[in-house]
Amino acid sequence: MDFFEKLTETFAKNSKEFADKAKDYAEVAKLHTKINAANTKINESLITLGKAYYDAHKNDGNTEFEAIFEEIHKAHLTIRKCQEEIQKIKNIKICEKCGEEVSADATYCSHCGAKLKTTDKKEESDDVVEEAEVNQAQETKASDLEEEAEKKTVICPSCGQELDADAEFCTKCGSSMK
Ligand SMILES: [Zn+2]
Ligand SMILES: [Zn+2]
Repeated sequence: MDFFEKLTETFAKNSKEFADKAKDYAEVAKLHTKINAANTKINESLITLGKAYYDAHKNDGNTEFEAIFEEIHKAHLTIRKCQEEIQKIKNIKICEKCGEEVSADATYCSHCGAKLKTTDKKEESDDVVEEAEVNQAQETKASDLEEEAEKKTVICPSCGQELDADAEFCTKCGSSMK
């Protein structure tokens, strides 16, 4: 066997070993992927199980998992508080019928036309409300002029209310805009 034959043989042997190793790695990687997928399935099922248990026992009181129940309850409260804060900052409320965001002072939902719950504003005396609204209107004129110019609006043919161009229902009188 001359030098070159030997070299070729060695090379062939090495590349076969290399190929076998690569195959092993690929096989192991595949198995890891399967394990991960199975773990994900387990976790998803545990969450489903936990939710079902929580719903079934959240009102029992003094359960074995009292502390965890309390944690979940607190987290729910935090979520609700944050959502209320967001609504206040964005000056919106959530339509109870369709779940869409609508302007805080809307009487009807601009998405589904449902009559909306009135806000706490009504508890103030009429004078205060009117004054507040006038001030608000002036502020709007002063600071939001540019924004107003860019915002596309339509006028309700029934009541004259100015509405977002994509409103499907008038927020003041509830007329369909389609
Ligand atoms: Zn709605
Ligand atoms: Zn209208």
